[in-house]
Amino acid sequence: MREITHFIDGAAKAGASGRFGDVFNPNTGEVQARVQLATTAELDAAVQVAARAQVEWAAVNPQRRARVMFEFKRLVEANMDALAHLLSSEHGKVIADSKGDIQRGLEVIEFACGIPHALKGEYTEGAGPGIDVYSMRQPLGVVAGITPFNFPAMIPMWMFGIAIAVGNTFILKPSERDPSVPVRLAELFMEAGANLGMDLKGVLNVVHGDKVSVDAILEHPLIRAVSFVGSSDIAHYVYLTGTANGKRVQAMGGAKNHGLVLPDADLDQVVKDLSGAAFGSAGERCMALPVVVPVGKKTADELRERLVAEIATLKVGVSTDAAAHYGPVVTAAHKAKIEGYIQMGVDEGAELVVDGRGFTLQGYEKGFFVGPSLFDGVKPTMKTYQEEIFGPVLQMVRAESFEEALALPSNHQYGNGVAIFTRNGRAAREFAARVNVGMVGINVPIPVPVAYHSFGGWKRSAFGDVNQHGMEGVRFYTKVKTITARWPEGDVADSAFVIPTMK
Ligand code: NAD
Repeated sequence: MREITHFIDGAAKAGASGRFGDVFNPNTGEVQARVQLATTAELDAAVQVAARAQVEWAAVNPQRRARVMFEFKRLVEANMDALAHLLSSEHGKVIADSKGDIQRGLEVIEFACGIPHALKGEYTEGAGPGIDVYSMRQPLGVVAGITPFNFPAMIPMWMFGIAIAVGNTFILKPSERDPSVPVRLAELFMEAGANLGMDLKGVLNVVHGDKVSVDAILEHPLIRAVSFVGSSDIAHYVYLTGTANGKRVQAMGGAKNHGLVLPDADLDQVVKDLSGAAFGSAGERCMALPVVVPVGKKTADELRERLVAEIATLKVGVSTDAAAHYGPVVTAAHKAKIEGYIQMGVDEGAELVVDGRGFTLQGYEKGFFVGPSLFDGVKPTMKTYQEEIFGPVLQMVRAESFEEALALPSNHQYGNGVAIFTRNGRAAREFAARVNVGMVGINVPIPVPVAYHSFGGWKRSAFGDVNQHGMEGVRFYTKVKTITARWPEGDVADSAFVIPTMK
C-alpha cells in the first residue's frame, strides 16, 4: 500500500504515530493509499523547523520572495496535467475541473508576485514639528492553514501564497481525504527556490492529520495565526479555540447558496448556469448553487420543465472521462450522507422530481457515484433546506415576490454566496445592496471573487473578521508597526507629563 508522508524541512518525513487515514479512489471505491496522521510531537517538530527558517526567510527582500512565487507559478503550470490527474484520482472531480482548482489557486500566486507593492507602508512627513510618522507591515512568524477536501490545490494556495510571500513560514494541514496534491505543491515550491539558488527548507511544511494535529496547531504557542476552511461546526470550534489561545483566526465554514430567478430572466441561460453550478464537481463546492428560488408560478413551472430536460442530458462518469459533466463524490460515507438527505427531503414532504439515488456506472459499480436530483416544493422549515447537503441535489423553493425571495438567503444560517438572474438592473442593484450574504453574483452563478479581491462569506459561513486573499490576506498575515520619529537638534527638551499631541 502506497504511503503518503509528511513533508517537513524540505523533505518527505515518515510519520511515527502508527495512525493512518485511508485515501480512496472514488471512481473505483478502492483504498489506493494511506496517509500518516501526525502526533502532537510531530506537529511540534515541524513548527520548530518552520520557526528556525522564518528568521532567514523574513530577511529575504520582498522582491526576491516574489521571484520565488514567479518560479513556483511556472513550475505548477509546467506540471499542470500531472497535478490535475493526481487531484482527480483522490477527489473524484473531472480533470478539467481539477485544472480549474489549480488555476484559481495560481491566480493567488500571481497576486503574491506583486507582494513588494502590497507590503509598502504609509508615511507622513511633518506630522508634528520635526516629527515623521511611518508604518510597516511585518510577518507574524509561523502561521498555519487547515484545508478541506473539496479544493486541495486552490485553498492551500489561497493561504500559503500570501502568507509566505509576506515573510512567514507555513504549516499546511491538508484534508486527509486527498493529501497528495498539497505535498506535490510543497515539493515544487522547494524546486522553485533551488532554481533560484535559494534553500527554502522549512518555509512550507505539510503535516497530515486529523483532530489531533488540528488541536496541536490551535494550542501551539509559536503558531501566530490559523486560517481554516471546512464545515461550519469545526470552523466555529477552530475559531473559538484558536482565539482563546491568542491567535489570529479566520475560519470559513459551510454554505447553502441561493439563486434567485426573476420573471424577466433569460431562462435558457439560467438553466445552463444552474445545471453547472448545482451539479458541477458533484455539488461539492462551497460556492455551488443548490437552492433555486424562482419568483412567481409561471417562472417556476417553466424553469422546472427546462431543468428536468437539462438534467436528462447530464453525463456522470469517471473523473478521467472528458465527456463527463461530473464524477463521483469523495467517499462512500459522503455518498450515504447525500442519499440520506434525499430520503429526508421525501419524508419532509418535498416533491422529488428527479431521483439520483441508486446510480451505478458499468465497470465502476463500487465507485461513489450519485446521480443528479431535483426537488420542488421545498419549504424553509425543512431540515434539508436549512442544512448543507454538499452533493448533486438542487432544491427549488418557490417565492411569490421579490421581497419573499430576498428574505430566503438573507435569513438563512449560511451566507457564503448568492446569485440573482434578471435583466432588470434596478432589481439587481437593490438585491446586491440588501441581501445579507457575503458574495453576490448578478447573472453569475458562482461568484468566486478574483484573486486580487477577497473571498469570504457571512453568518455561519465565516468566523473572524478578515477574508481570504487579496489585500485582506495581506492584512491577515502581517502586523502593522507604526514609528513616530524625531531627530532633535540643540537643547534637550523637558519631560512631558501629559499625553503628547502634535500641536
Ligand atoms: P471538514 O470540516 O470535515 O474538514 C476540514 C478540515 O478540518 C480538514 O483538514 C479536517 O482534517 C479537519 N477536521 C475534520 N474534523 C475535525 C475535528 N473534529 N476537529 C478538528 N479538525 C477537524 O470539511 P470537508 O468535508 O473537508 O470540506 C467540506 C466543507 O468545507 C463544506 O462544509 C464546505 O462548504 C466547506 N467549504 C467552505 C469554503 C469556504 O470558503 N467557505 C470553501 C470550501 C469548502
